[in-house]
Amino acid sequence: MYDALIQFIRERFPGDAAIALHEPHFWGNEKKYVSEAISSTFVSSVGEHVIRFEEEIAALIGTDFAVAAVNGTAALHISLILSGAESGDEVVTQPLTFVATCNAMSYAGLNPVFVDVDRETLGMSPLALQQWLDENVERRDAGAFNRKTGRRVRAVVPMHTFGHPCRIDEIAKICKDWNLKLIEDAAESLGSLAGGKMTGSIGDFSILSFNGNKILTTGGGGMICTNDEAAAKRAKHLTTTAKVPHSWDYIHDEVGYNYRMPNLNAALGRAQLEQLDGFLTSKRRLAAEYRDFFTNRSETFVDEPAGAKSNFWLNAIIMENRAERDILLKTTNEAGVMTRPVWELMHRLPMFSGAERGDLANAEWLAERLVNLPSSARKVAP
Ligand SMILES: *Cc1c(COP(=O)(O)O)cnc(C)c1O
Repeated sequence: MYDALIQFIRERFPGDAAIALHEPHFWGNEKKYVSEAISSTFVSSVGEHVIRFEEEIAALIGTDFAVAAVNGTAALHISLILSGAESGDEVVTQPLTFVATCNAMSYAGLNPVFVDVDRETLGMSPLALQQWLDENVERRDAGAFNRKTGRRVRAVVPMHTFGHPCRIDEIAKICKDWNLKLIEDAAESLGSLAGGKMTGSIGDFSILSFNGNKILTTGGGGMICTNDEAAAKRAKHLTTTAKVPHSWDYIHDEVGYNYRMPNLNAALGRAQLEQLDGFLTSKRRLAAEYRDFFTNRSETFVDEPAGAKSNFWLNAIIMENRAERDILLKTTNEAGVMTRPVWELMHRLPMFSGAERGDLANAEWLAERLVNLPSSARKVAP
């Protein structure tokens, strides 16, 4: 039934018996930089590569500061703390996301609130956010409060799903109006543009992930981006066990975290970063081929939203219904072509099932139909 699709994908990844959803590629200076880092003995939490990698990411995203972290989840945890959210507060996010977004909230004692996504962007719907705030939240001197739970609402965390930018400018306006901090979960969208601006440059904070399955990997790693100098300093402090800088004394002035990115990983990341343009070009080309393939078929290719430029981290299609989705998943996976449904929605997971939420019709509609297709970068002819 899906023979043509399987053949189409096989032709694009020839020679792979099993075709992965997303594979990392080390086509550049990875071995050189990592081996130099080993020779220098600076393999761990101190080293030039971390500092350079932070500078390079800040320059790319266009924020004044970038602070490296051991992974994207840790970067989110720290960003949430820096947003001023305190244990017991509520943070608004989307139910269609990777579990890390909500886990980080739990680490900080925060309660996720779920509002719906747009069908077009797969990211948080500004309308759904506005509606939830209008219906549930009142402004008091001490901030915005959920009338029903009595909890303070402090921040909003939209996610740029599969690399497609959500309507972040509209969300930013709403956050400003309600005096809520905006944290972009840009873990999947490195290199994507929302209205000409890099995703990750719009929020008060944004986070990136360099996990092995992301567009660019450090093995494991993350980044906190911000224009707020004091917050960036505090991010460094909190990720470095809150150690007070001193030539020999070990003084820590609060409970901190060992969330540093090791120098070895930053060395790998810098070599990867040199190839980002090539990865982006390759992924854009593959997306165009998928777009052509799905023209005049019953499945709908998830294209980049109007006015946005996606990094096409993971290509996705929307099936007609759940039954069709399941047939496609079964057929392709049995044929050695890895395809996957979207994550179980957050409000359906046991630990977040009691969370406050708006109407989630779009997320629920999408969850039954979305399928991710093999999306690894391929070598681009120079
Ligand atoms: C990958 C990812 C993260 C964080 O991932 P780490 O594996 O901790 O680096 C956070 N949010 C989303 C949406 C992600 O896809």
